[in-house]
Amino acid sequence: MLKLEGVDAKYDSFKALDDVSLEIDAGELVVLLGANGAGKTTLFNTISGLMKPAAGRITIDGKDVTGRKPSALVQAGVVQCPEGRKLFPGMSVLKNLRLGGYVHRRDRAGMNRTLEHILAMFPILEEKKDQPAGSLSGGQQQMVAVGRALMGRPKLLMLDEPSLGLAPLVVKQVFETVKSINAEGTTVLLAEQNAYAALKIANRAYVIENGKLVMQGDRDEMLGNEAVRKAYIGA
Ligand code: ATP
Repeated sequence: MLKLEGVDAKYDSFKALDDVSLEIDAGELVVLLGANGAGKTTLFNTISGLMKPAAGRITIDGKDVTGRKPSALVQAGVVQCPEGRKLFPGMSVLKNLRLGGYVHRRDRAGMNRTLEHILAMFPILEEKKDQPAGSLSGGQQQMVAVGRALMGRPKLLMLDEPSLGLAPLVVKQVFETVKSINAEGTTVLLAEQNAYAALKIANRAYVIENGKLVMQGDRDEMLGNEAVRKAYIGA
């Protein structure tokens, strides 16, 4: 469903993405591994239209979306859940969630159904729906961020470091949730430092280094790969 061909992205003269080509099929859960500064966020921002590629082509379901605005990408079904959550801390949980459907959904009844589904997925948010998002714990705020992204009914959900800064037990819940979102039919691209846990739920992975994709493989290949283990998993 998503295809990148020879994509470059630049910050002034610095090439942060260099000739990136990748393909993700509908229904897949694909992990993007890379060290700090490797280019994961840049790649996400380029796919979601926040950054314009300096070269190359991006297509979604065969349709060229290269250089389109973020709102057009949301319309096409691409929704990004950014690193660091970026909620509106003073607004209620419910309002934060509703914002996820604001740009392009006009079907009130459908939005309410999606909202109900999300609150059922995260019962703690139902309990805290009228509280300011900023008063929730880190893990709960992450749930709001994922829930808000799901309100956009994405075809492709891009999650940037969803486990960042969370306690181990909460990390486990986040990965289980990502897995179940994927099992319900949403294609997922997941950037994670927590490589082992991410690979465990993935179909495939790409490795990015200095803006280049240097390796790809299915879950078992990646888990068994010496270089991947050394660089991203340890032990
Ligand atoms: P992290 O896990 O730390 O978020 P990342 O893999 O997401 O890392 P990016 O944030 O995409 O990496 O950064 C890729 C490269 O681009 C890095 O060398 C970074 O310093 C550089 N970079 C990122 N944002 C900017 C910017 N706004 N201006 C200039 N350079 C940037």
